[in-house]
Amino acid sequence: MDRAPIRREKLRKSIKADKVDAYLITSEVNVSYLTGFTGDSSALIVTPTREILASDGRYTTQLAQECAELELHIRSVGRQPHHGIADALTKMQIKTVGFEAHVLSVATLNTLKELLPTVEFAPIPARVEALRMIKDKVELRAIRRSIAIAERAFTMLKAGLSLEDSEKDAADALEGYLRRCGAVSAAFSPIVAVGPRAALPHAQPTAHARIGDDDFVLVDWGATDGVAGQPYKSDLTRMIVTGKVTSKFEQIYQTVLKAQMRAIDAIRPGVSGREVDSQARSLIEEAGFGRFFEHGLGHGFGLEIHESPRFHRESEITLQAGMVVTVEPGIYLPGWGGVRIEDDILVTPTGCEVLTSLPKTMESVRN
Ligand code: ZN
Ligand code: ZN
Repeated sequence: MDRAPIRREKLRKSIKADKVDAYLITSEVNVSYLTGFTGDSSALIVTPTREILASDGRYTTQLAQECAELELHIRSVGRQPHHGIADALTKMQIKTVGFEAHVLSVATLNTLKELLPTVEFAPIPARVEALRMIKDKVELRAIRRSIAIAERAFTMLKAGLSLEDSEKDAADALEGYLRRCGAVSAAFSPIVAVGPRAALPHAQPTAHARIGDDDFVLVDWGATDGVAGQPYKSDLTRMIVTGKVTSKFEQIYQTVLKAQMRAIDAIRPGVSGREVDSQARSLIEEAGFGRFFEHGLGHGFGLEIHESPRFHRESEITLQAGMVVTVEPGIYLPGWGGVRIEDDILVTPTGCEVLTSLPKTMESVRN
């Protein structure tokens, strides 16, 4: 069943309170979510009774295939996307238009205001992102596929990993495995960080650090599912021990794992993001590593790798069934290295389901 019309109807309900004639959606991801259209340079205008996609002539065939039910405004050759938007709003006789203030650039907004001097532009909260927090069945299937791809690719990486490989060799190989397992691409450039470099939560793989340079490697990766029109992502982190297991590594690993399990146990509808974060954070603090865990506990993901909700110290968001989030505590000791464990969790009506299944016991991380 086509989900796009249902999503647009939900959006229509959610913008009622904003009291605007139309809502202008310029985020490409949001346009795609609401229409099924996978091209770019297009904007969707939603009013209480109409919906128009302002696009361009390159996409005529694709639009007919992907969202035939939509009314279109195709701008003529040479006209820019903002002209298309302005022409469509004029044609629809819109007086007040809500826009995605977190997306639309000041330059484009000013241009639109110049083109439409009598139209009032009102910033609107991130309504589509709020809808995207709750995943429907189709999205969940895509996310499960994306996780399965990521897990298969990681198993291949582990099996073929050589101590002589550089971080970059391993990251490149992982990207190849992801594609071979059915991904359209990696969800983001994989992180492969050896020893002390794992102390950088967002380490870039280098060509000089070798897997065998230290006792352990941190790998943070994900897939973008390859089914057409459903580029849903996954996001995992695992440690691989390639040398000896020191007591320090074991202590830190077990602390991170316990913190992660405790946070996952707390996930259910009605709980705040702050509460989930504090479950992991307090355990890490009690173990004496509080100041070495300096990022939020996790984040939603889906069409994008970082979406709402977010887990951090001040997160007021209340969990609802259908949200999909990561839980990824870490301890990073400058000069020594870092340990992070990241899994993907679905909030269910009664609690949660851990969607990822790669083993993470201390024994399982040895290679
Ligand atoms: Zn990650
Ligand atoms: Zn993540």
